[in-house]
Amino acid sequence: MSILIEGATIVAMDPEHGSEPFRGDILIEGERIAAVGESDARPEADRVIPGEGKLVIPGLINAHIHTPEAFAKGRYDNMPLELWMTLAYGILGAPELTPRMIYLRSALCAMDAIKTGVTYFSDDILEFPLQSMETIGAVFQAYEDVGLRASISGHVINRRLPDSIVHLNDLLPGDLKREVDAMEPPTADDFAAFCEEAHALYDGRAGRLRFMPAPSGPQRCTEPLMRAADEFARANGLPFHTHILESKVQAVTGHALYGKTLVRYMHDLGLLNRNTTIAHGVWLTDEDIALLGEARCSVVHNALSNLKLGSGLCPVRRLLDAGVNLALGSDGLSTSDTPRMFSVMQCAGLMHNVTSPDNAYWLEAGEVLHAATLGGAYSVLLEDEIGSLEPGKRADMAILDMRTANFTPLNDVRNHLVYCENGSSVETVIVNGEIMVDGGRLTRVDEEALMDELRDMMPQIRADQERLEAMNRPFIPPLAEVWRRCAETDIGINRWGSDNQPRWPTNR
Ligand SMILES: [Zn+2]
Repeated sequence: MSILIEGATIVAMDPEHGSEPFRGDILIEGERIAAVGESDARPEADRVIPGEGKLVIPGLINAHIHTPEAFAKGRYDNMPLELWMTLAYGILGAPELTPRMIYLRSALCAMDAIKTGVTYFSDDILEFPLQSMETIGAVFQAYEDVGLRASISGHVINRRLPDSIVHLNDLLPGDLKREVDAMEPPTADDFAAFCEEAHALYDGRAGRLRFMPAPSGPQRCTEPLMRAADEFARANGLPFHTHILESKVQAVTGHALYGKTLVRYMHDLGLLNRNTTIAHGVWLTDEDIALLGEARCSVVHNALSNLKLGSGLCPVRRLLDAGVNLALGSDGLSTSDTPRMFSVMQCAGLMHNVTSPDNAYWLEAGEVLHAATLGGAYSVLLEDEIGSLEPGKRADMAILDMRTANFTPLNDVRNHLVYCENGSSVETVIVNGEIMVDGGRLTRVDEEALMDELRDMMPQIRADQERLEAMNRPFIPPLAEVWRRCAETDIGINRWGSDNQPRWPTNR
C-alpha cells in the first residue's frame, strides 16, 4: 500500500527543520516513509490525501502510561500518590478482572489516544496480585486490533509495602501489618521467568508491539530483581522502565533505606544507562541530574499527574541542560484522567512558567513537541525508527485539519499545536504505513460496540472497586501520617511551589 499526502504543511521534527513548519508532500510506501518535501513529479500512490489546509506531524508518543487505571478515570480527587495508590490499586485483595475486561480497558485508552494523534504507548501494566500470560496477552491483542505501536510491560513490586515506605513499619496497626506480612512477594527469578516467557510469546507482535521489563522502583524492588530486569533489558535491546523520585515520600525513603538518593543508588548498582527510562524524576538533586545526564538516561515528565497528585514540579530545564533526554507521558488514567498527549503538552508547556521569574527557564513549544515525539522515541529505543517524518523511518503520523477553531486565526503553528489544539482537529492517523483513523473514525475496530460492552460491565467492575476500597481504607490514616512527616522533613530541596509550604492541619 502506498499513500501520498500532497501539498500539506509539515512539522517533521527532522534535523533540517526541527519543529519549523514547511510545505511539501509525504510519500509512504509499505510500512515506511519513502519521501518528504517538495516534488514536481507526482508519484503513483494507492491513496492520495489532499494536503491543502492540513498539517502533518509525527505520531505523538505517550512515554509513560498505566492503562490498568482506566476503570478509575475520574474517580479520585485531591489525594497524594501514596494515599491515592491505596485506593486505586489496593494493598490487600485483588480485583476480579477477566481477560475480556482487560482487553476492553486497554482498547478504551488506545481508541481515545489514537483518535487524538497518539501512535505510541509505553504502557506500564500492573495487575494484582501478578500478571499472567493471559492478562498481558489481552493488552497486546487490544493494541494489535486498534492499531497502536507500543511497549507493554511486565511491572513488578517485590518488597512488602512497609519495607518500601519510610515510617510505615512503625505506623501500621498490628492487624494490618500481619495481613501485609502474610503476602508472599515474587522473587527476582520469578520475574525473570515471567519476562522470558512474555518476551518469547508476544514481543514483535503485529510488527509494532514489544515487551518491556518494568520493575516498579528501587525502593519497591530488591537489588537482585532490579539487576535481573536491567540484564534482561540490555540482553534483548529493550527499554528498562522504572519510577524514581515521584514523591517526597520516596525521596525521604531512599535516604532511610540506602543512605543516599535513589538515583545515586541506581548509579552505584550500574543501573543507569542508555536503556534506562525514569518516570517522574521530581525530587532530584543537582547531583542526581548530573548522573542521569552522564548516563544518557531518559526522564518521562508526567505534567498532569504531578499536578493532580501534588507530587511537585519536575526540574525539566535543569534536566535538559544536563543532557538528559526528556519525554512526556500522561501517567495512569486515574492520575491524569486522560491518555491524550495534547492535554499533556499544553500542561507541560505552561506549568514551568511558575517555577522561575526567569523566562529563559521556561519550556518553549518546540521543546515540548520534541519531548512528545523524538524524546519519547529515544526513551523507547526507537529514535532511528519513529519520532520524526524522515525517509526510511516508520510511517507513524497524524494529519490535522487547520480549518478548525483551534487553528483559526493561524499564527505560529507550533504554538497552536501545544497551546490551542486539544486533539479534535485530528482527522487521519497512520501507524506503520496503515491508516488507523480515517476522517476521525477508527478503521479497524467498532468503537461504539466496544464502549457499549465496557459500559455493560461497569456495574460489576464498580462493585469490585468499592469492595477493594473498603478493604484498603484502613491504610489511609497511617499513610497520611507518613505523607505529613515526609512533607515536613528537610532534605535540602523543595519541588513544591515556594508559596506552598505545608500547613497542618487543613481546615476542611
Ligand atoms: Zn507511573
